[in-house]
Amino acid sequence: MTQVLAPEALLEGTAVRFGWAIAYRDGRIEQVGPLEQLRAANPSYPVIEVPQRLLVPGLVNAHSHSFQSLVRGLGDDRPFAAWRDVLYRFTPRLGPEEVYTAGLFAFGEMLRYGTTTVCDFFYLHHGDNERAVALAQAAEDLGIRLVLARSMMDWEVAPAAYRETPEQAVANGRALAARFQGHPLVRVIPAPHSPHGASGEMIQAGARLAAELATPWHIHVAEAPYEGEQIRARHGCGLLEWIARLGALDERIRIVHGVWLEEQEIAALGHAGGGLIHCPGSNLFLGDGIAPLRTYLRHDVTVTLGCDSGSANSRLSVFDEMRLAATLQKGLAGSGDALDAEAVLQMATVNGEHVTGLPLGRIVPGALADFCLIRLDDLSMQPRHRIVQNLVYSLHHGAVSDVFVHGQPVVREGRLVRVPEAAIVERVRRLTERWSAELSQVEATA
Ligand SMILES: [Zn+2]
Repeated sequence: MTQVLAPEALLEGTAVRFGWAIAYRDGRIEQVGPLEQLRAANPSYPVIEVPQRLLVPGLVNAHSHSFQSLVRGLGDDRPFAAWRDVLYRFTPRLGPEEVYTAGLFAFGEMLRYGTTTVCDFFYLHHGDNERAVALAQAAEDLGIRLVLARSMMDWEVAPAAYRETPEQAVANGRALAARFQGHPLVRVIPAPHSPHGASGEMIQAGARLAAELATPWHIHVAEAPYEGEQIRARHGCGLLEWIARLGALDERIRIVHGVWLEEQEIAALGHAGGGLIHCPGSNLFLGDGIAPLRTYLRHDVTVTLGCDSGSANSRLSVFDEMRLAATLQKGLAGSGDALDAEAVLQMATVNGEHVTGLPLGRIVPGALADFCLIRLDDLSMQPRHRIVQNLVYSLHHGAVSDVFVHGQPVVREGRLVRVPEAAIVERVRRLTERWSAELSQVEATA
């Protein structure tokens, strides 16, 4: 049955339309336009009016690692290698049940802050798909849309739990994609870990699998300077140049971070039709630096935004990343007009289609019915001179009142609908309560 939702206003692209409504059915938006027109054309459709609400596309968190939320706080305020040691200590022990808990925790928090789609870069495989399936179950139970970027890693330094041979990674990735073929909420894409975490053979296998599945593929590139230095020492070229030599710099590639690349590499990425997943909060939190976002935009690279994880950033809000993405570029350029609110809003919404391969991020007929209702009467949304600027710069998360994914309500009046938040808190507490003491003990005896 088609539903009509009539907010006070809705966001069509970056234009605010007062008195417009949407009609949706079976997870898709059918019509968008002035309420009176929709009513006249479809008198039998039930109309739900939501005064004082702004309907916006659901935000796309293009990069995260949900299970890392469980170590939030434990590795903070340390250099990268020491932060990663904490991750390597606690995460290999997580079984399917624990991965499920982590998914409820991280995805639940994202939903509360208006994220309707998350690309979760997942690498706790232990050689199979059991944990990945548990993670997808958490997404399904909460009602969030999940793009499961199944990582492919064969770096001998990483824990055995993360590693596979290229043959295993392809077979498992293909099997997982087949399992979720046609699923309304879950899609599987390949994700060779990084030029340091995946061999050339693994990266080529990931790019080929993406072509076979007709999806984008994701890869971490140039988060820190050491990666480029390593590849230059080994192969005598830059990171993306090496990926190009492998034959993998294609239109499906979406690189995560991209903090330390030369301009000609960025230009090649744009020329290929690739994308950048910009994670400004994580890059600052871990001391990686600031990606030259305006260079990417100048070379027509499609940019999306990622929170990265609950331990690599601490916050899991795409609203925070939008604000940071714009304000960092203003600060770098020394000018308030370096990057505007409309541009970063587009990164978090419309550009979601490029990074996921799914028709989302827009309030238009045919798009997936993933959207949020924002309280227009929240103090952080006043005054209403520039509503898009308010969304990006001043909004407080308390202003996110309702979230719909695939046309279904998953957050109502600021609370998760399907899984009680208290139950998630209890699961996380039980699972992690001894970890801090364990880490202190290990470090005291080291
Ligand atoms: Zn990552």
